[in-house]
Amino acid sequence: MPHESFQAMLVRKSQAGRITAAIETLSFDQLPPGQVTIHVLYSSLNYKDALALEGHPGVVRAFPHVPGIDAAGVVVESNDPRYASGDEVIITGGGLGERIWGGLSQFVRVPAEIVVPRPAPLSLQECMIYGTAGFTAGLCVAEIERHDVAPEAGDVVVTGASGGVGSIAVAILARLGYRVTAVTGKSAAHDLLRRLGAAEIVGREALHEAGDRPLLKARWAAAVDTVGGDLLATILRGAGPHSCVTACGLVGGDHLNLTVYPFILRGVTLAGINSVDTPMPQRRMIWEKLAEPWRPAGLNELLQTEIDLDQVAEYAGRLKAGQAIGRIVVRLPR
Ligand code: NDP
Repeated sequence: MPHESFQAMLVRKSQAGRITAAIETLSFDQLPPGQVTIHVLYSSLNYKDALALEGHPGVVRAFPHVPGIDAAGVVVESNDPRYASGDEVIITGGGLGERIWGGLSQFVRVPAEIVVPRPAPLSLQECMIYGTAGFTAGLCVAEIERHDVAPEAGDVVVTGASGGVGSIAVAILARLGYRVTAVTGKSAAHDLLRRLGAAEIVGREALHEAGDRPLLKARWAAAVDTVGGDLLATILRGAGPHSCVTACGLVGGDHLNLTVYPFILRGVTLAGINSVDTPMPQRRMIWEKLAEPWRPAGLNELLQTEIDLDQVAEYAGRLKAGQAIGRIVVRLPR
């Protein structure tokens, strides 16, 4: 190993139930078992990581825990024939930072099944600008295409548009020629969203004001919803005939107050998105698309804030409060 010990963000729970998160020095024998050991150079911050830092039971399965659902780095040891020392690899999801110690650490040891070779020509850092957020946006776009919603079909609405998943979805859809309506709660993000290609920007409240009839004026050919709750219900009520509404998030709530009319009268498809357990062939296909044909022009310049491990807690707080814009890449100490 290149190091005798290394640094990681450890979340602990005291006997009194108090959750703390702090950078600690670990030795390699503390890493969990796994076939591939990776020197992590970049990770990223996602909404789930902010939850993990608070010890949220939906993300953290056991304490102590290392959060970080994303990691990009170089293999230093492998017992699996698919990977050798020196290979550049990435991990997004697959249980990393949930049931497996995660990427907010200089080293991870993981099952080979969740490792993906770096999708060239993306650099490791660019892979983490995408991270799970970009991968999830990619899954949503793939689902919209699979349902044959062409750019000519009409507007695509993206909620939580200034967040990680939302901003990348706006950029990819605009690049593919869709007319994108971005829904955001932040006036400070309007310029960014326009530069990413949004044709229209709507405030969250304006969408809610659409009333509570079971069906609203058919407005959307497709949707990428990262918010859930009432906003998702409003979008489904206003979804057009044979539209595809992809749902991946719950920052605005986990309940859906809805009738079946959008489904049985308009043939609306509600497509659920799960980026954690995506089968490997689909995972690789999405990464290939993210690497070349879907890559937004402004990926590096527009979407990235780069931070160090000791800034993670501060930025996770901003994410949790819905204040972050774009993607937060974490640079691990070398
Ligand atoms: P971010 O925190 O980066 O973005 C979320 C955005 O949602 C915010 O920036 C804000 O955007 C908006 N928002 C925040 N709070 C509220 C609120 N109370 N009501 C309405 N909108 C709000 O998170 P991510 O993009 O990383 O993730 C978004 C969601 O998707 C999360 O719920 C996350 O858990 C989920 N997710 C799910 C995955 C899956 O596999 N299913 C994978 C990845 C993420 P704005 O101000 O522009 O409205």
